[in-house]
Amino acid sequence: MSSQPPNDRPGALHADVAVVGAGAAGMMAGIAAGRAARAAGSDARVVLLDSARKPGAKILVAGGGRCNVTHHAVTDHDYNVGPGSSLNTVRNILRGFDVARTVAFFAELGVQLKREETGKLFPTTDDAHTVLDALLRAVREAGCELRCPWRVESVERTESGFVLRGPAGVVVAQRVIIATGGKSLPRTGSDGHGWEMLGSLGHSVTRTFPALVPLVVDKGATFITELSGLSHVAEVVVCSSTGRKIAACTGPLLCTHFGLSGPAALDISRHLAAARFDDPGATLLVSWLPGRSFEQADAALVAASSRAGSVLRVLLEDAAFAPAMPERLARSVIEHAGTDPAAPVHTLTRETRRALARALTSMPVPVAGDRGYLFAEVTAGGVPLSEIRPATMESRPCPGLHICGEALDVDGRIGGFNFQWAWSSGWAAGRGAVQGLAEREHTPRNPAG
Ligand SMILES: Cc1cc2nc3c(=O)[nH]c(=O)nc-3n(C[C@H](O)[C@H](O)[C@H](O)COP(=O)(O)OP(=O)(O)OC[C@H]3O[C@@H](n4cnc5c(N)ncnc54)[C@H](O)[C@@H]3O)c2cc1C
Repeated sequence: MSSQPPNDRPGALHADVAVVGAGAAGMMAGIAAGRAARAAGSDARVVLLDSARKPGAKILVAGGGRCNVTHHAVTDHDYNVGPGSSLNTVRNILRGFDVARTVAFFAELGVQLKREETGKLFPTTDDAHTVLDALLRAVREAGCELRCPWRVESVERTESGFVLRGPAGVVVAQRVIIATGGKSLPRTGSDGHGWEMLGSLGHSVTRTFPALVPLVVDKGATFITELSGLSHVAEVVVCSSTGRKIAACTGPLLCTHFGLSGPAALDISRHLAAARFDDPGATLLVSWLPGRSFEQADAALVAASSRAGSVLRVLLEDAAFAPAMPERLARSVIEHAGTDPAAPVHTLTRETRRALARALTSMPVPVAGDRGYLFAEVTAGGVPLSEIRPATMESRPCPGLHICGEALDVDGRIGGFNFQWAWSSGWAAGRGAVQGLAEREHTPRNPAG
């Protein structure tokens, strides 16, 4: 801790609240701080600093350029946390600024949201620019200043606040909100440096790794890459090397030239990576008949074999047996099971029939790895929630510092949950920082004097 008071730094920019990172969480934190200050009749100066020339790049690429702002039903079970974080804490933070408030917040900014069949909420314009433009306007209207590009290289705690340094200069601030995100899509400005700064301020950071990331398969060992472009609703399961089921996700699974993508693959990716840290033999199994057990699939094949003349490939394309299984997939699964797709069902031996039932319900896919941060939508891991006070997102080891968004050890499944986390945690951090300023004003600086 430096002994030089921040106000004595010539040439420095002075802020009451400095927000580091103006992505989804940082902008929301700034808006909440600015509004809370004005509501309290304070002229507190809120400054947002972002290393990107144009902040909000992730908002623009989100949801295929449409920005999936949130989901109509968000619960703590839509999130993953690591050691030192609890879903109870996630729930409490989400409650403070829930989906209804998010929808009302955006409506007030002129952004109407529509709900799609999947439960995802998008702007009615189907254009992410609507969301980003509205947030930038709200930042200005809340009285915040946005400085960019302004990369923060270090944050130092002083007796009366913080000193932030970067190539663009020095900022002194009473309160700091760290909203630097994770490491995914580094070209948008998130490179993980925020965690180094948090480490220097007394925080720990759990193991970090790409999440919501496409999976790369071992090409020679599977037919998946030959089906590039094919999508089918499937269940993907992570199993330990001893066969214990660790996690499962059901949804559209997309075969690509490198492996697997689509919602089911993206959602399961963090579970496979996490399992493999401690158990490199953990595997990914695919059920092409989600909701059906091996026994049920086998029984269906037995029943079909009594119908003379039915050919395997045709059977698998039959909606009653395997809902909407594409012909290319049916053929590949049958061949994978060691059988001829043109073979009549009644010619199956017990052994080949059971091999096919197994390939249909728990086919191992040789996953070699994932596509890394360049293609990941989020980062798993970060600062444990046990190191912050959930009501204000204030740091326990470093009072006066607040943390929000992806920098914390919370990652959501696909569907708008990650932005909801950014809105909820950003809101709490912004209000918390201004509350902290007010408390400080009412606390005698030197009670003895
Ligand atoms: C391709 C893609 C699509 C996505 N689609 C969706 C979706 O549709 N719905 C959804 O809910 N989620 C989606 N996500 C996830 C979502 O974008 C993130 O979870 C969310 O943006 C995290 O917000 P954040 O503010 O915490 O971090 P970020 O958005 O990463 O923002 C961090 C900001 O901090 C700045 N910064 C970092 N370090 C510094 C520093 N040292 N100094 C100054 N500034 C710094 C960065 O420039 C950046 O602007 C998607 C992500 C990607 C990559």
